[in-house]
Amino acid sequence: PVQITSSVESDKIIRRKLNGYVGFANLPKQWHRKSIRRGFNFNLMIVGEKGLGKSTLINTLFNKDLYNDINIDNNDIKFDSNLDDLQKNSISSTIKINTLKTEIEENNVKLNLSIIDCINFGTSIDLTNSWKPIIDEIDSRFDSYLELETKINRSNLIIDNRIHALLYFIEPTGHSLKPLDINFMKSIHEKVNLIPIIAKSDILNEIEIEDFKLKILNDLKNHNIKIFNPINYENDDDETKIINNEIISKIPYAIVGSNNLIKLNDGRLVRGRSYPWGIIEIDNEQHCDFIKLRQLLIRNFMEELKDLTSKILYENYRSNKLIKMGINQDDSVFKEFDPILKQEEEKKLHEAKLLNLENQMKQIFQQKVSREEKKLQETEADLFSKHKEMRDKLLKQIKMLEEKKKDLESNNKLLDNQQIHQSQQQQQQQQPISSP
Ligand code: GDP
Repeated sequence: PVQITSSVESDKIIRRKLNGYVGFANLPKQWHRKSIRRGFNFNLMIVGEKGLGKSTLINTLFNKDLYNDINIDNNDIKFDSNLDDLQKNSISSTIKINTLKTEIEENNVKLNLSIIDCINFGTSIDLTNSWKPIIDEIDSRFDSYLELETKINRSNLIIDNRIHALLYFIEPTGHSLKPLDINFMKSIHEKVNLIPIIAKSDILNEIEIEDFKLKILNDLKNHNIKIFNPINYENDDDETKIINNEIISKIPYAIVGSNNLIKLNDGRLVRGRSYPWGIIEIDNEQHCDFIKLRQLLIRNFMEELKDLTSKILYENYRSNKLIKMGINQDDSVFKEFDPILKQEEEKKLHEAKLLNLENQMKQIFQQKVSREEKKLQETEADLFSKHKEMRDKLLKQIKMLEEKKKDLESNNKLLDNQQIHQSQQQQQQQQPISSP
């Protein structure tokens, strides 16, 4: 049936075409203001053998004497959990994780930077799996994020402590990658945004660097090792695309680090390394790829690194973990936005955790019971052997007594016989001799 609206009602409705200014153009500004107030955070892990210039590069990158001006999070110093205390103290080749935290401010924009340094990498004699503490560190940061994220009451904003990028320092040998490089990168490439760099590249010439880069890329390809590859800039404008392609194409970056200021002949003061044959300028793209690395990490791809960590690397880790716990996720991205499914997932995760805890407690209880049982069995065996010993002793004594009894009885018999014999003799003597 056709509904007829009274003219009075329809008069109340004012129809206006939305062609004016609504205000959503302000959204980027709002986001911008909020982000600036909160500050950005970025967690960078650095791995490489000792002496490859890691601390120098970090200081050069952030233009700060971070390694002297540091705030070391001592709680984060971790040892290989398989070693006992004695070993921990005696073996200095065990990897230690040091987190250096600092706040950098530039034009009122705050960056909360965490450098996660892996001390003693590659110094262990037995290199198989010597980097386990590094993997544990990456995983435990994912785990804490997962725990916070799946809490039923997520009252506070979750602090993102996940590793957003890993700078891997390659020794400038000019040859292929070493087994240590390959095995390590293989074990972490699916957990972090891996950015390989050629350390101290000033010891190689231009042709050697290009040749070394090709060898490294070939090795990485042959071993199916994935390195950081942004996906979100395809929609950018052509100019940005060209710049970004240029930045990415230079990986693995040939790096030179230095915080020394050198005065050039033309009076300019530059950061660089001075040699008898000339000066290497850190901030000169003709001399090394330092600027490209800085652009990637700070200027152009910091958000992308964080995005990929969150949407791909962490999601992979998360779904693998949930599957291992027996929770199947068909479409995690969809579930992310479905509150009912999300809550169910949280419930399942909570139940799985409880079950895990219950199993652990059962195991502990069973261990305790079997320990007590063993103790009882030992006491029983002890009692049994004591009992046997005592029984043997008593049996021996009984035997001895029986023998003694026999001896006495036979003595008695002998005496009896003697007595009978004597009395018979006496009787015979007392009888009168009969006359013939
Ligand atoms: P880390 O053990 O990896 O942290 O290495 P350091 O940053 O302490 O550097 C070890 C030594 O190498 C120091 O003497 C640095 O001055 C030097 N060094 C650092 N970066 C470079 C570089 O790019 N080229 C050269 N030739 N030497 C460097």
